[in-house]
Amino acid sequence: MAPMSTLETPLKKELGDRTATALTKAFGMETVGDLLRHYPRRYVARGELSNISELAEGEEATVLAEIAAVHLRRASGRTILEVVVTDGSAKLWLTFFNQPWREKELRVGRTGMFAGKVGLFNGKRQLSHPDYQLIPDGDDVDEAISGFAGKFLAVYPSAAKFPSWKVSQCVEIVLDGLEDLPEYLSEEVRSELGYPGFTEALREIHQPTSLAASTLAREALTFDEALLLQLLLAQRRAEYQSMPAISRKIRPDGLVARFELLLPFTLTEGQIQVCAEIEKDMSATHPMHRLLQGEVGSGKTVVALRAALAVVDSGGQAAFLAPTEVLAQQHLKTISKLLGPLAQAGTLEGDADGTQVVLLTGSMNAQQKRDALSKIASGEAGIVIGTHALLSQGADFFDLGLVIVDEQHRFGVEQRDALRTKAKVPPHVLVMTATPIPRTVAMTIFGDLEISTLRQLPSGRTPIVTHVIPVLEKPHYLDRAWQRIREEVEKGHQVYVVAPRISAGESELDGMTEGDKAIARLMDGGKEEKIPLTSVEELAPQLALGPLKGLSVAPLHGRQSSDLKEATMQAFAEGKIDVLVATTVIEVGVDVPNASMMVIMDGDRFGVSQLHQLRGRVGRGSVTGLCLLVSSADESSNAMVRLNAVASTVDGFELSRIDLEQRSEGDVLGKAQSGVRSHLRLLKVLRDEPLIEKARLIGTKLIAQDSTLSRSPALATAVAQLRNEEASSFVDKG
Ligand code: ADP
Ligand code: MG
Repeated sequence: MAPMSTLETPLKKELGDRTATALTKAFGMETVGDLLRHYPRRYVARGELSNISELAEGEEATVLAEIAAVHLRRASGRTILEVVVTDGSAKLWLTFFNQPWREKELRVGRTGMFAGKVGLFNGKRQLSHPDYQLIPDGDDVDEAISGFAGKFLAVYPSAAKFPSWKVSQCVEIVLDGLEDLPEYLSEEVRSELGYPGFTEALREIHQPTSLAASTLAREALTFDEALLLQLLLAQRRAEYQSMPAISRKIRPDGLVARFELLLPFTLTEGQIQVCAEIEKDMSATHPMHRLLQGEVGSGKTVVALRAALAVVDSGGQAAFLAPTEVLAQQHLKTISKLLGPLAQAGTLEGDADGTQVVLLTGSMNAQQKRDALSKIASGEAGIVIGTHALLSQGADFFDLGLVIVDEQHRFGVEQRDALRTKAKVPPHVLVMTATPIPRTVAMTIFGDLEISTLRQLPSGRTPIVTHVIPVLEKPHYLDRAWQRIREEVEKGHQVYVVAPRISAGESELDGMTEGDKAIARLMDGGKEEKIPLTSVEELAPQLALGPLKGLSVAPLHGRQSSDLKEATMQAFAEGKIDVLVATTVIEVGVDVPNASMMVIMDGDRFGVSQLHQLRGRVGRGSVTGLCLLVSSADESSNAMVRLNAVASTVDGFELSRIDLEQRSEGDVLGKAQSGVRSHLRLLKVLRDEPLIEKARLIGTKLIAQDSTLSRSPALATAVAQLRNEEASSFVDKG
């Protein structure tokens, strides 16, 4: 008898070279484990086949039918494949967008099972992007169906060269030769959870004996994924706990005390609480790893600055890492202003107990860099603000005690780790984000960090009012918007106009995150060719010569020289520019309280959270902010639904949830977790909240009892594998 296979066995051995190579090409699979983790999307029960003539709109149905006609057409840049199938009782229309390759397998005369949600379009029954399983050519239909294992047919994600039924066949062969796999969990824990064993779960999910059993199997396998991830995070937390760090205590008469006296306002209750949490963390002898989340304008910078001063108080240095140069410069200005004389040690006006704040960015000239680097090395600079340049320009700190990473959503774990290596002893780490993160996402992505949240905005803030302008339906609203800008300026206020592009005909979307670009592409729908996206370089002169004639209008975008950007921002901050026409370079950090209005062109091009962040730029002063979201999307489109959601609430948590629901799981987890992601086949961070909580509880308990998982070798191996993959995915990205 041939030896039984394990998850690591190469597919070649089980299926032969040809099939294995085809699976590698189609899905990137190499091993038995890869194939068995290619889970079915749904099951078709034989007894549940419906007659097409009896299908009702909205029903989830599966039909057995023959392909009667196939038609491929192109419309506004997309391909639409229309397939008509019939079961003798009636016809059913199937549509596939942008999947022209399906035309090759969906040939007239072939029979298959087609499953999906029934829709009605022009009085015709239709399935949009149905799952399907074609009956192999030449086979007798009944025989082919009953030839598949069991009562249920598994429907797999398929590829052009590898249809679902072929996957089924391969899975069957592989399952036949599979040995009993080692369990992750002890018998005791598993029976408490009520889950089947690992091998049984794998068999049930591919070849269910009943739908209830397959549902439970799916849950058990999803739980495993959640557990592995939580164990990885728990191990990392345990490692932080075991790292040494220098305790940074606030001196009662030191910089922090002086700073608090200087502040022109009193801290909010939330700020006081978060400051206390940070103070406690940093006085410990292992490194702080804390995430501070709070809306734009909630006062995170002040909290971070106080933490930085605490470190300077104890003789150390703090590094502020910003995602862009503009933001780094903005930080320098804000922080210098908040510190006043405390930031000018060594000058005549400076306070004797003070420190120096220096900037280090990629675009500084050699002399400027040398100066900054020497102050960083000598310790004269207590606070260092910078971009990635801080990581790459060989900055050598005298005593780096705290790393503050601003706007985590643009910063990977890699950069966090790279900066950590700049210190002799691991520094404390504070990560700040303005995108509120739902609890389970926080537990998954930032599960190795403690979390602080600023929920209230400092008082004196006025809420922002947001309206959507559907330009297709109501073009005159746009004229009214320009008029409204004039009125704001006449009242002495300033206005932002945001556009998605720098120049005409350009495909790059300036300053957008990968996730937002993905959404923009998703929302494209071919509309682009008809209505080009607004660009800063076109819009600024159009406005200046047209509807905003007489006002001072200036462009700002990421391709301008940093001198020009700086000068423009400066002029806007001083009120010398009325209207700033900009890309999303203004998204974070720009703080001009006199700005009272924002118009966002092609608002449908931006993610929900990004829109929320953008509008956070206005209403920072005492006047009510106004934000207009301009879009040429259809009134009934998804894009409009998102824009209306943004207009209807200012609750960042709710918006962030809407945002995440629209993203793929990969986008939710972000590129920082791409190694881990390939392991998460079933887990959906938002949907599986209870499962993740359970996994976190059990994972934490396991690590507490047995930190190296020596009593669960299978689990230890799987977690180690996950770790390696995560590590190598960082290396891959260079
Ligand atoms: P964030 O970094 O969270 O976007 P900031 O720290 O930049 O927020 O604060 C936004 C604005 O509110 C700044 O002008 C800041 O000086 C001001 N601010 C911060 N905390 C308070 C407070 N407790 N009371 C009044 N104003 C505050
Ligand atoms: Mg800020």
